[in-house]
Amino acid sequence: MPGLSVAAGEPLRRVGEALCSLFFPRLCPVCGRALPEGMDLLCPDCLARLPRTGFLPQRGNAMEELFAGVLPLVPDVRLHSAAAFFYYKPGEPYTRLVTDLKYRHRRGLARALVEQMFRECDPRLFLPGGADVVMPVPIHWKKRGRRGYDQSAYIARAVGRRLGIGVRERGVRRVADTPSQTAFSHSRRFDNVAGAFRWETALAESLRGRHLVLVDDVVTSGATVASCVEALCAALSQAPPAGEGRRPVGVSILSLAFSKG
Ligand SMILES: [Zn+2]
Repeated sequence: MPGLSVAAGEPLRRVGEALCSLFFPRLCPVCGRALPEGMDLLCPDCLARLPRTGFLPQRGNAMEELFAGVLPLVPDVRLHSAAAFFYYKPGEPYTRLVTDLKYRHRRGLARALVEQMFRECDPRLFLPGGADVVMPVPIHWKKRGRRGYDQSAYIARAVGRRLGIGVRERGVRRVADTPSQTAFSHSRRFDNVAGAFRWETALAESLRGRHLVLVDDVVTSGATVASCVEALCAALSQAPPAGEGRRPVGVSILSLAFSKG
């Protein structure tokens, strides 16, 4: 609209949004009721009852214990922190936060959940020394093609924006189009994703001495993230630098949800 200033356009945008919400009210993804004005994630009741893990400021939490047991024990990587915002239990209504983002392309949920997560916990409590780069655990390009997007990339972008650090979406690929982990038992999940990722050696080397935050939507057995970190280690071992250059890559893991089962 030529000549229309930002200040003049703002009221018009608000009127448009108000009209839109009159005919198409935004609904709480958990209970399905209309969201009150000013709320863009959950209705007040569902937000109050969100099954939070409390992991973000808690070192030694259950997710860190899980990853301490499944990540490769090598000098090239060092686990810093791991956390998820809320618990995921299949069949429970809060799983819709994940399934709506994953299958219904409700990308706004990624940003709203990340904003809420860091509103409730100062990022400095999760990452005391800060971090250098955020990367999503990627899905296979065929899956991305079918779905049209990668939900973990949306989450990673929101995390990067909130933490004020860069997001890197290239350089690690999922080379195996594996079936969904939900079809497998706990132990078979590790077989299903073994060898599923490949890192560019130059990227892996550039991460030495830096702190990487790996982002995924849901962590259950930890098998997918562990496979991604194993592939990072494989890339780092391609051309190991001598002496001082052999600094480890610091790794933290952040997901929206954590499933105990
Ligand atoms: Zn609700």
